[in-house]
Amino acid sequence: MTGDVPLLEVRNLVKHFHVGGGLFGGRAGIVRAVEGVSFEIRRGETLGLVGESGCGKTTVGRCLLQLERPTSGQVLFEGRELTTLGDEELRPIRRRVQVIFQDPYSSLNPRMTVGQILAEPLMVHGIVVDRERRAARVRELLSHVGLLPQHAHRYPHQLSGGQRQRVGIARALAVEPALIICDEPVSALDVSIQAQIINLLEDLQAGFGLTYLFVAHDLSVVRHISDRVAVMYLGRIVEITDRKSLYDVPRHPYTKALLSAVPIPDPALEAERERVVLGGEVPSPLNPPAGCAFHPRCPIAIDRCREALPELREITTGHRAACILA
Ligand code: SF4
Repeated sequence: MTGDVPLLEVRNLVKHFHVGGGLFGGRAGIVRAVEGVSFEIRRGETLGLVGESGCGKTTVGRCLLQLERPTSGQVLFEGRELTTLGDEELRPIRRRVQVIFQDPYSSLNPRMTVGQILAEPLMVHGIVVDRERRAARVRELLSHVGLLPQHAHRYPHQLSGGQRQRVGIARALAVEPALIICDEPVSALDVSIQAQIINLLEDLQAGFGLTYLFVAHDLSVVRHISDRVAVMYLGRIVEITDRKSLYDVPRHPYTKALLSAVPIPDPALEAERERVVLGGEVPSPLNPPAGCAFHPRCPIAIDRCREALPELREITTGHRAACILA
């Protein structure tokens, strides 16, 4: 169910952090965490946002929720600009936008039972006031995420990692959100459990018409769940397109390198394919390289790459990449 009006629109989002230069010295500088990111997510759609750690993808997620106030740019949710709203005005919107975290253990209160954890948002937001009905709603939420009624009496430490993530998902669902930011929700789980959680998220999306921003550090995780994928490098989107184009005909050398690190289950194909090994580390966002920020690691860089920042341009319909040789 993909509508025409975007549920979320991000326009030229910038987030800089000032660091150092305090009482005890240290050189002052600006960490350019997010440098002009734009994208939209339509209702019922999943956008995968992928990049190595430090590329700014988590900061983008925090800016959407206004947990970090952007340095500039706009965030429109259901057509409403959020960056100018105060905390009080943001409250009902924060209910409509929920987050599922990488490590549910640290986001679940260890002193509360699962039942209490799930009942809390229902009480705080006045969604189900009656106690009996609240208990029934908690059982319903547990069943939506594949848990049993008796799990309501357990504490987070009595659950497996996968079960805890199911509780994190049920808690997000409790307030009937429109958009869920899935922030590396399976990175801490075993591979076999990862697939179960991703299938669960897909089922819930189909059942409740949810929209997802799915943040991950590798392309294998978002492959099955994403309708479109955006690849970030050093604060910028360097490629964005639909899933099929991204995996079949990647245009940016960074995307190609990330894809070549994803194992292919077929040993014959795996043996045949060419690997792109990325040299060096991601440069510091305190002092990003001039020109194309990827040039120090790019296997096909030419002199011109050091001079000007390549714009994110349309290569084919709906497929944009920021590379002069794409
Ligand atoms: Fe590589 Fe140059 Fe393209 Fe940047 S612009 S990705 S350095 S070829």
